[in-house]
Amino acid sequence: MNTGQVRDWVRAAKHIAVLTGAGMSAESGVPTFRDSQTGLWAKFDPQQLATEEAFRANPSMVWDWYAHRRQAIAKVQPNAGHRALAGFAKRHAGRLTLITQNVDGLHQRAGSEAVLALHGNIAQDRWLDTPRACCNAHAVAAGSPPYCDRCGNMRRPAVVWFGEPLPQSVFAQAEQAAQHCELMLVVGTSGLVYPAAGLARSARGRVAIVNPEPTALDDAADAVLHGTAAKLLPVLLED
Ligand SMILES: [Zn+2]
Repeated sequence: MNTGQVRDWVRAAKHIAVLTGAGMSAESGVPTFRDSQTGLWAKFDPQQLATEEAFRANPSMVWDWYAHRRQAIAKVQPNAGHRALAGFAKRHAGRLTLITQNVDGLHQRAGSEAVLALHGNIAQDRWLDTPRACCNAHAVAAGSPPYCDRCGNMRRPAVVWFGEPLPQSVFAQAEQAAQHCELMLVVGTSGLVYPAAGLARSARGRVAIVNPEPTALDDAADAVLHGTAAKLLPVLLED
C-alpha cells in the first residue's frame, strides 16, 4: 500500500478523523516521561507522581515536577506534521477531527482548533476539587500550586493522571468522529493504550496507520505507511 493511495483516500473522504500519539511529537524533540526525569527528578517514578493521591499527599512537589516538564515542552516547537494537520483543517473547514493522546499542546500551538485532547493539556490547570462559588480566576493566589484565597482549593495540571478516567465529553466526541469518518489516520501511536486504541478499531471508514515501526493496530488497518508524522503528513494532506 503506498502513500499515493492514502492521499487519494484523503482527497475523497468527506470526513477524516486523525488520532495522534507520542510519535507525532518525536521530531519536535518532546521529552518522554522517562527522558524528562533529569536532575533532581531522576530518582522519582512518574507513575508515582502523576496521580491524584500523590498530588494530595505532596502538592508542591508534584506541582514543581509538572512545572519542570512544562518548561521542557515550552522549549520545543511543532513540526511539519503538526503544521500539515492545522493547515488542512483551515483549508477544509469541518472535514477533519483531530484527536490526540498527547498532552504537549503542540497541535494547538501549530494552529489546530477544537483538538480533542484525550489526556488533557499540560499547559493548562484546573481546580483540584469541584469549584465552589468563590473559586474563580480573581481568587487565584500565586503559589506552588496556586490556590483559591477564599477556600484553599488548589489548582492542578489539567492532565489525566494514572487511575483517572478520560474526560467523558471529549471521549464521546472522539467516538462520534470515529464512527462517522470515512477515513481515520492513526499517527505515531503504538496502539497499545486503551481506550484510545479502541477508537481505531471502531472506525467506520478506512484506517491508515502512519508510524515508523509496526503497531498493535496494523491488523485493523487498510493501509500501513512506515514513516514519521513530520515526513508523511505534509505529503498526505497537501491539496
Ligand atoms: Zn474557593
